[in-house]
Amino acid sequence: MEGMRVWAEIDLDALAFNLDVIRRMSAPGVRIMLVVKADAYGHGAVAIAHHAVRAGIGALGVGTSQEALELRHAGIRIPILVLGTVIDEELRACLSHDVHLGLHTFDRAEQLSRLAQRMGCPARVHLNVDTGMGRLGLPPHRALELLRRLSADPTIELAGVMSHLAATEGGLEPAGRAQAQAFEAFLTEARSIRQDLGWVHLANSAGIFTGLGTQYDTVRPGLAAYGVAPANWPHGEALRPVMGLRSQIVFLKDMPAGAPIGYASTWRAKTATRIATLPIGYADGLPWRAARGGEVLVRGQRAPIIGRVSMDYTTVDVGHIRDVAVGDVATLIGKDGTDTIRVGDLATWAETIPYEVACSLGRRVRRQYLGGEDLLIPSQAPADLERARKSPIAPPLDAIPPLPRP
Ligand SMILES: *Cc1c(COP(=O)(O)O)cnc(C)c1O
Repeated sequence: MEGMRVWAEIDLDALAFNLDVIRRMSAPGVRIMLVVKADAYGHGAVAIAHHAVRAGIGALGVGTSQEALELRHAGIRIPILVLGTVIDEELRACLSHDVHLGLHTFDRAEQLSRLAQRMGCPARVHLNVDTGMGRLGLPPHRALELLRRLSADPTIELAGVMSHLAATEGGLEPAGRAQAQAFEAFLTEARSIRQDLGWVHLANSAGIFTGLGTQYDTVRPGLAAYGVAPANWPHGEALRPVMGLRSQIVFLKDMPAGAPIGYASTWRAKTATRIATLPIGYADGLPWRAARGGEVLVRGQRAPIIGRVSMDYTTVDVGHIRDVAVGDVATLIGKDGTDTIRVGDLATWAETIPYEVACSLGRRVRRQYLGGEDLLIPSQAPADLERARKSPIAPPLDAIPPLPRP
C-alpha cells in the first residue's frame, strides 16, 4: 500500500483462523452466524461476507435492513438475520429479499402475517427472548404466548429462537449464567409447545469464550471473529487480529523546547525534539481521546501521540527514533518489528471499548484485503460444504466490484 495516506490491512486468513477457533469452541457441527453489522465492525461487510461464505459459515447477522440489502445486492445468498428489529417501512424489502427478522411483539407478528400473505412469501422470524438485556425481546412468559400464536399461523415461519447476553463477561459472571439458565428454562417450555424451534442461539463472542450457549446449533460471533478478545477470556489469546491500521509520515519538523503543537496548544516540547505529522485524524477513526497516552509504531519503536488529534492529522514525537524519514510507515494498529499495538490498546487509551474503535474506521481509510486463498473451514454441515464447493453461493471473487480508489 505504498502511496496511501491511511490504509487498513484486513487479514482474511486471520478471519478464517478465528472462525475455526470459534467452531472448535462450540458444539460439533455448529452453524456460525457471523455478525457483520456496522460494515463488519469496520472491516468492510461485503468483502468479509464473501470470504466468510467461501470459508463455509452458515449465516450472517446485521444491524439494519439496509445492511442486509447491501449484502443481498452484492450477491450474498445465505440466510441473513437483522439481529435487533426494523421499523415498519423496512418490512417489505426484508420479506422480498428473504431477510430473517428478530421478533418480539404481537403487533409485529400480525403485521408480518398480513404482509406475507399479500406478498405471497413467508416471513422468517427469530423469536427474541429477553433474559436480561432489557432493550429488545419479550420476557419468557410472553415469548411462550407469542410462540403459541405463531404455531397457529402458517404465513410466519419460525426460523429460530434467540436471546442476547447483557453480561459482557458471559459465563464468568453470575448474571451471564443466570441469563443462560433463563434461556434454557424457556427452551424446555417452548419445546412442549412445538418440537421444532428452528435455530437456537444465545452466544455472542463473550458467550462462546466463556462456555455460554455453545451447546446450541448456532452461535453469533462478532468481535472475536475479528480477532479481538478481552484478556480474561479463556483461549482469547488464540485469536489472530484481523485489522491493521497504518499511515505514513508526511512531514518532519524540529521543534525547540517550549514550542506548542496542535489545537489549543495542549502540548509543548519539554526539550528540543522532532515531530512527525501523520495524515490520519479522527475522521479516519483515530479516536480524539487517544491523544492521552496513545502511541504509534515507527521503525519498530513507540512514538507517543502529542497534542490533539485533529480531523485529518495527528502529530507524534519521534525525537528518539534514529533515521526517521518522511514516508516511513506509522502503525496505529498492528505489528511493526517485534512490537504490536492492538485494537484493545487504542480503546484503552481512548477510554472506550474495542467495538467503538473498530467500527469508527472512516470512509477515507482504504481497506486492503490480504490472504484469503485457503478459506474452507469444516464448520458447517458436510452437505452444505459439498454444495458450497460444487456451486459457490457467492459469486467468484473477481465478480466482486473493485474497491473504490481513493
Ligand atoms: C452485535 C451482536 C452480536 C455479536 O456480538 P459480539 O460481542 O461482537 O460477538 C451477537 N448478537 C447480537 C444480538 C448482537 O447485537
